[in-house]
Amino acid sequence: MTTAIAPPQVADKKMLIDGKWIDSQSGKTFESINPATGDTICQIAEGDRADIDLAVQAARRALESKAWTRMSAADRGRLIYKLADAIEANAKELAALETLDNGKPIRDALHVDIPTVVKCYRYFAGWADKIHGKTIPVNGPFMAYTRHEPVGVVGQIIPWNYPALMQAWKWGPALACGCTVVLKPAEQTSLTALRIAELAMDVGFPEGSINVVPGFGPTAGAALAAHPDVNKVAFTGSTKVGREIMKTASASNLKRITLELGGKSPNIIFADCDVEKAAKFAYHALFFNMGQSCCAGSRLLVEDKAHEQVLDVITKMAKKQRLGDPFDETTTQGPQVSKEQFDRVLGYIDKGKSEGAKCATGGNKLDRAGFFVEPTIFDDVNDDMTIAREEIFGPVLCTMKFDDVDEALRRGNCSEYGLAAGVWTRDINKANRMAAGLKAGTVWINCYNVFDAAVPFGGFKLSGMGRELGEYALQNYTEVKSVVTALAR
Ligand code: ADP
Repeated sequence: MTTAIAPPQVADKKMLIDGKWIDSQSGKTFESINPATGDTICQIAEGDRADIDLAVQAARRALESKAWTRMSAADRGRLIYKLADAIEANAKELAALETLDNGKPIRDALHVDIPTVVKCYRYFAGWADKIHGKTIPVNGPFMAYTRHEPVGVVGQIIPWNYPALMQAWKWGPALACGCTVVLKPAEQTSLTALRIAELAMDVGFPEGSINVVPGFGPTAGAALAAHPDVNKVAFTGSTKVGREIMKTASASNLKRITLELGGKSPNIIFADCDVEKAAKFAYHALFFNMGQSCCAGSRLLVEDKAHEQVLDVITKMAKKQRLGDPFDETTTQGPQVSKEQFDRVLGYIDKGKSEGAKCATGGNKLDRAGFFVEPTIFDDVNDDMTIAREEIFGPVLCTMKFDDVDEALRRGNCSEYGLAAGVWTRDINKANRMAAGLKAGTVWINCYNVFDAAVPFGGFKLSGMGRELGEYALQNYTEVKSVVTALAR
């Protein structure tokens, strides 16, 4: 099939610091790789400590500049609305960049990622002039009120699975609250971050209010997390790096920290639900975005009575998945994002086989260029197997059987992670019991992967701390100041 959107030609990229597009201080660059072919897309300026330092200084100056401090909250909101409009107007270009850089099917980039990005910015634009404190009745002749002030300069480090969306989750609340930002995109996927930054400058964000420094985690990322003049660090990525960031972020000052980390989310199907529908959702709960979602429903727990039917539906769906060129509109599964992830996923598949799980379908790489892995379903998985415990972040679904609510709850919670969970049942009592008992930041009942910019998202346990999206996200980007004034008698 011919594609409506062709892979774009991309020129080499600089970084954005203080409103200017510049090379890195070291002059170094790194390659951005097309995961569908393994070819180089372009060279990108490689940031390190010196670049992060310049960006933080620029963000600090911007935070204290008249352009920023004199801008009303309503005008800041209008700027964010304008950014949303600019992203919408350039949706095809941005979707194409995302597909080229990340490998996700163009139909997802165009119809899911970019529209969700636009909605996120619009949601937070609406908050900008509605962030305020309270007046508090107190004893004695005093007036007390609170001010919700911007937390300051924020460092934001994002992953490669939903590059533009993770940027929106970070920039939306930060800018609505009046913070200035330094963003380090994932080294695998810097292109949409840089293009959206360009759009932000075009619509009128003041110099230095947003800065983007591409580069690697242990260098640019670590420098941002450690910087003594950064007030808050927001990170989305692996639990391993989240732990490191927590340490680094508290070494030189006491940064506010939010972490959105890994997951091993249970998706629990009771036999009394619409089993066919639940099975179809369960398939997408894991295989959407090539299994590269932190909330992927990677542990599919199915009541014994429904197990055969569920396995039949999802196995047939896996066989129908269309793997291939992500720019082909009929493609439903693209490559994994990088060679490293590809090898990691194949390693987990080998582990599943060697530890005795039954491979119901898939289990191999594709014999072609690029980082393609067959949709893989393991059955008869037990809770102790590596594939049931560790986050695979690839198209590998583990299915398991259970007998009753108690077992479903116990095994649903049998993970060091606690990001999300799904429950499928027509029994309201069962649903309520599961919703209350599951240790997860989000519980989806008779649905999965339903996101809205207004609904908070984040993790229990090793899945992180703090909440993104919704009103709760604003708490992470403000300091509360209490003002108490003596009243004249
Ligand atoms: P993944 O394993 O999925 O690539 P990571 O947690 O390694 O996830 O990466 C997520 C983001 O964190 C990326 O932007 C990456 O560059 C960054 N990162 C990796 N290591 C560090 C580190 N030590 N300090 C700060 N950021 C890091």
